[in-house]
Amino acid sequence: MSATAPAPIDALCMACEDETCDFKPMRFQRRALGPLDIEIAMKFCGVCHSDLHTAASHIKGVGRTTEYPCTPGHELAGVCVAVGQHVSKFKVGDHVGVGCLIDSCHTCAACLAGEEQKCPKSVGTYNSVDHSGRAAQLPLGRRTIGGYASKMVVHERFGILIPSEYPLEKAGPVLCSGITMFDPLKKYGATKGTRVGVVGLGGLGVMGIKLAKALGCTVTAISRSPAKQALADHSGATSFVASADAKLMAASASSLDLILNTIPAHHDWAAYQPLLARGGKHVILGANATMGAAMYAPKLRVFSTPSVVHSMIGGVANTQECIDLCAREKIYPETQVVPVQQLNEVYSKLDASNDAGVRYVLDLEGSLNVEAIGTCNAPPPTLGPNTTGLSYGTIIADALRIAAFH
Ligand code: NAP
Ligand code: ZN
Ligand code: ZN
Repeated sequence: MSATAPAPIDALCMACEDETCDFKPMRFQRRALGPLDIEIAMKFCGVCHSDLHTAASHIKGVGRTTEYPCTPGHELAGVCVAVGQHVSKFKVGDHVGVGCLIDSCHTCAACLAGEEQKCPKSVGTYNSVDHSGRAAQLPLGRRTIGGYASKMVVHERFGILIPSEYPLEKAGPVLCSGITMFDPLKKYGATKGTRVGVVGLGGLGVMGIKLAKALGCTVTAISRSPAKQALADHSGATSFVASADAKLMAASASSLDLILNTIPAHHDWAAYQPLLARGGKHVILGANATMGAAMYAPKLRVFSTPSVVHSMIGGVANTQECIDLCAREKIYPETQVVPVQQLNEVYSKLDASNDAGVRYVLDLEGSLNVEAIGTCNAPPPTLGPNTTGLSYGTIIADALRIAAFH
């Protein structure tokens, strides 16, 4: 007698129907478990500013459309409740997370080097197109459905083992905000004595301070908000510079080997260049026009690389290394757990500069259930205009400026 074929999995998600980001609970199905898939009962999912950029369609100026209904979320944490017949990496009961990627080609040079984020066929956890069937959504052909959901099904390669002692509500943010800061720290050799500046104290920035500190770096927190000095101190920053204070900025000239810039809006990035010491790098991480420009600027310059560079998340191996480091060194993101009923409010807060500097984390197990269908009645978030500057014109202008002068 043959075993019954696995069935699609009924689930709930938080989805918005358009760029107003008015999230409501919705029923949907995850695909049936394939032989190399794992099923995760979701407990928590962090809310990254990238979720807002996608749900609010900030990226359309560079041809990246958002498919609605849209369910973002790429900081997933939960418990493995089922494994496909050929799964070897996980077992039922493991704490498992998923970060920004759920598939890639598995065979190109980037994939073989563990840099799946650079694979031309990489598939993002939400709003991405499945190329191989390994990231299939239902109905087939639909863009990927992210982590604001009660269930997740993912190919085992893209699952991250969360050390059992690490608090699950803290784990998700490590898988995007943590790895996004860890990868450039590692790439540029940050170690004991490296002078690191972190610009923008939100979800990414605070993790950047903590990770750089754990690697032995001297960390300068740079913020528009003087009120965040206490947060910077608590997170382990050695010093704090209010970016609006011209005297403090001038006093910090040539003091940094590496700047990790997390500002989500297009801004005067050149104002931070004087802080770099000779040979230093300014890494643009925020999803704004300058990040696009930093990608193209090296192609415009032949004999040397610009000091303004970009970086995008990290591969599976480095993500695992990052959460293992966090568990070993007891590095925890600053989180505030909220029920799904508050998701719209969280979007208003992120859009308004994340004054608390925390990573908001959805309590999925505790609040995303059938009762939520009747209780998510919050008004849509209050969102300002798109400030990312993401248009081809701004990217080209910034790329020329980086290539010529920086
Ligand atoms: P967040 O929690 O909202 O924090 C962003 C921080 O940037 C704010 O707290 C604020 O810090 C500062 N800021 C906000 N608006 C600003 C403005 N107009 N001018 C100057 N500073 C401003 O955001 P996040 O989740 O950390 O994400 C930050 C950015 O990184 C987003 O664009 C996100 O999409 C991107 N991201 C990129 C990657 C990657 O792979 N490269 C991965 C994840 C996220 P202060 O109050 O301290 O100034
Ligand atoms: Zn993110
Ligand atoms: Zn590949």
